[in-house]
Amino acid sequence: MTLFEKIISREIPAEIVDEDDLCLAFRDINPQAPVHILVIPKKPIPRIAESGTEDQSLLGHLLLKASGIAASHGLDKSGYRVVINNGADGGESVPHLHIHILGGRPLQWPPG
Ligand code: AMP
Repeated sequence: MTLFEKIISREIPAEIVDEDDLCLAFRDINPQAPVHILVIPKKPIPRIAESGTEDQSLLGHLLLKASGIAASHGLDKSGYRVVINNGADGGESVPHLHIHILGGRPLQWPPG
């Protein structure tokens, strides 16, 4: 079982900011911006590359949830970034799909 599945099942604590039947959102333990929240599906999809057409509505739900959470944390006017790291070169460290919401400061582009 991955770390994020243990957060879903409450085996490992996290600062949960939102939850519904399909997903969970919680604060990143090592925040890279004043607001850094992860949105994860409850379905254990390892990474975006391993999602399929059967996940189409779930993936849309996660993005809409990310947008709503960003707005509820006051980021909709200032702006924010939504990131999915995939695989080794993408910087993925937890093999359970997660969307990063980063905001509360100007973010650089291109990323490192
Ligand atoms: P990634 O590098 O894209 O796979 O992102 C994984 C993220 O999970 C990192 O930003 C970590 O800081 C975060 N993370 C790892 N363990 C925990 C935890 N126990 N609670 C919250 N966030 C975590």
